[in-house]
Amino acid sequence: MISKKFEGIAASTGIGIGSLYSIKLESDFILRESISEKEVPKELKRFENALKKSIKELKNIKQRIEKNRGKASAIILDTLILLLKDNELIETIKEIIREEKVRSEWAIHLVRLKYERIFEDFDNEYFKDRINDVNDALNRLMDNLKSRGIKDKEIPENKPIIILADDIPPSEMANLITRENLKGVILTKGGLNSHSVILLKAFEIPAVINLKTELSEIYDGTEVIVDGIEGEVIFNPSLAIKKEYLNKKEQYEKYLIELKSVKTLPSKTADNFPFKIMANIELPEEVDLALSFGAEGIGLFRTEFLYLFSDNEPTLEEQEKIYLTVLDKMNGKPVVIRTVDIGGEKKSAFFSIDDEDNPALGLRGVRYFLKNPKILEGQIKAILKSSKKHKVKILFPMVTEVEEIRELKEMTLNIAKAEKIERENFDIGIMIEVPSAALIIDKLAKEVDYVSIGTNDLIQYTLAVDRGNPTVNYLYKAINPAILRLIKMVADEGKKSGIEVQICGEMASNPIFAMVLLGLGIRSISMSPIAIPLVKRTLRASCIKNLKRISKEALNLSSADEVKEFVIESFLKSCPKTLFENINLIKK
Ligand code: PEP
Ligand code: MG
Repeated sequence: MISKKFEGIAASTGIGIGSLYSIKLESDFILRESISEKEVPKELKRFENALKKSIKELKNIKQRIEKNRGKASAIILDTLILLLKDNELIETIKEIIREEKVRSEWAIHLVRLKYERIFEDFDNEYFKDRINDVNDALNRLMDNLKSRGIKDKEIPENKPIIILADDIPPSEMANLITRENLKGVILTKGGLNSHSVILLKAFEIPAVINLKTELSEIYDGTEVIVDGIEGEVIFNPSLAIKKEYLNKKEQYEKYLIELKSVKTLPSKTADNFPFKIMANIELPEEVDLALSFGAEGIGLFRTEFLYLFSDNEPTLEEQEKIYLTVLDKMNGKPVVIRTVDIGGEKKSAFFSIDDEDNPALGLRGVRYFLKNPKILEGQIKAILKSSKKHKVKILFPMVTEVEEIRELKEMTLNIAKAEKIERENFDIGIMIEVPSAALIIDKLAKEVDYVSIGTNDLIQYTLAVDRGNPTVNYLYKAINPAILRLIKMVADEGKKSGIEVQICGEMASNPIFAMVLLGLGIRSISMSPIAIPLVKRTLRASCIKNLKRISKEALNLSSADEVKEFVIESFLKSCPKTLFENINLIKK
């Protein structure tokens, strides 16, 4: 196979090289996936099940057509059923599975090629066209083989691997990324702001999503390079290409080390205006990484991953230990612990959430826990207990109305009283991540000590764009004036009522957007640790005077594209050119 390069969207920076392994692939790739001798009977069973299901489906369709349109119209269905019952065809597929020790998909693919060659040789156009019937039957068979999950597949432990999938839900990604040998991820779908991509960034695993490819055959085990800087994937690289990328990988790693040196410098703009730059983490193990990148605090500890990563619900003692590990390591620097934001795309066996038509608008975050308070009460107790040693900032997700925060506050204060914990040991804050919360910020501000704007969801809910849906990704624009106006409202109200306003959405990890946020009046931003050095360097080189002027004008523009063009032009004029060596970081 010759070397082939394809483009997608860079989702997590870095360069990864390894052997390809595919999971949950439902697109048009056909893989030559090998299996062990032991797995052959299971694979034959899987094939037989798909075959039975396909025949049953065809029979049902046939019955429906006969009923509505008469017997003659259903003849084509007979042909398809006969094809799937054809002994020679079925036995050939099974033989390939047995002899070559491959998955059914590859065996069907080979049989399809064989039939295409036979039909190709027919002189008669009518017979030539019968290949369409064969394809129709085989496509149905392929469809019924889909949806194999990660668990059904053995991924090798002993060599560097690159995973290829259409998309991977956060609960499965959580298990995958802890593998030492995972060197990269390629998704044919996926959203830049999905929780799965957030996890990949947190674990510094290079990733390319929305891969555009016309490949029809990919072999598991093929060598592949994931370039999460440019958003490219190279299958089967030649030696020369591999050398080029190994070199690029080295350069990137050197660049990161050089960039990290900014961590010892003060967080102040060129005209001496202070800002705070913190890290978002999903696991306590990430604190060291956050500190190594210069985080001045943990602006968001997403605790739902404690549940997604483990098979058991963490006990109170285990939780307290985890929170204390983070607090001890941060040693007095601010730490925001967010209570579990389960629901939406984040599903876990511990929480019984019924299937919902619209999970993003359903029982998510505090909505679930106000109905089922036990787990939340336990979590609040563990957080409060850890606050005896270091001050903690508790953060509640998905608050949409005043009554919710009043109830949560009462719950927290009651637990604090019972545990004899001083009020000054903890702050209570809410995420501003739905438009309603931003619009009544003057009312909410009276109830809390601080707020944190979650732009990932604020963008999704304001613009009505599913953050994980690639089809509408083009509308997911952080600098849409509607978003900037909401942020400005919250920043202004924070100043007026004297409460701190932080940003913990990924928007802040884009240096240009971070400049806009500072200009809008935000002083405290939190992001994936790896993004901190570049954002800090960019903000240190800018002047708050210019940022304020430019952001103010941006608020009056009509669209995200106008804002983007305007801010880039203006920043280019008013800031040092060196700042924009990474201008390609503006992806949305
Ligand atoms: C957000 O919505 O911006 C946020 C930080 O929360 P999450 O990404 O976990 O939904
Ligand atoms: Mg959110």
